[in-house]
Amino acid sequence: MVLCPCCRSANLVHMHGHIACPHERWQLDVRAEGFTLEHLRQQLAYAYQEHAEARQCPQTVEFRLGEVAPGFLALVAHCSRCQMLHIVA
Ligand SMILES: [Zn+2]
Ligand SMILES: [Zn+2]
Repeated sequence: MVLCPCCRSANLVHMHGHIACPHERWQLDVRAEGFTLEHLRQQLAYAYQEHAEARQCPQTVEFRLGEVAPGFLALVAHCSRCQMLHIVA
C-alpha cells in the first residue's frame, strides 16, 4: 500500500496503466514508463531523503499534481522554504 502523498487520506491504486488517488480522483498515466506503485514508493522515499538530507531542510516536503508541460501531469515534490521542485513521477 502506498498512501497518497498529496492528501494522505487514501491509498493509491494502480490500474489500467494509471496510478490514481481514489480520494482526490486524479490519475497519472504511467503506461509508457511501465511504472508501478513500488517504483512510486521508492521515488517518494528518495524525494523525502533528498529533501531532508541533501537540503537539510526542516520543513515537511509537500506533494501535488502539477502540469509540468502542456497537457502533461506529473506528481511533483515541492517545498516553499528551500524552493525544492522535484518531479517524482
Ligand atoms: Zn490523494
Ligand atoms: Zn525544504
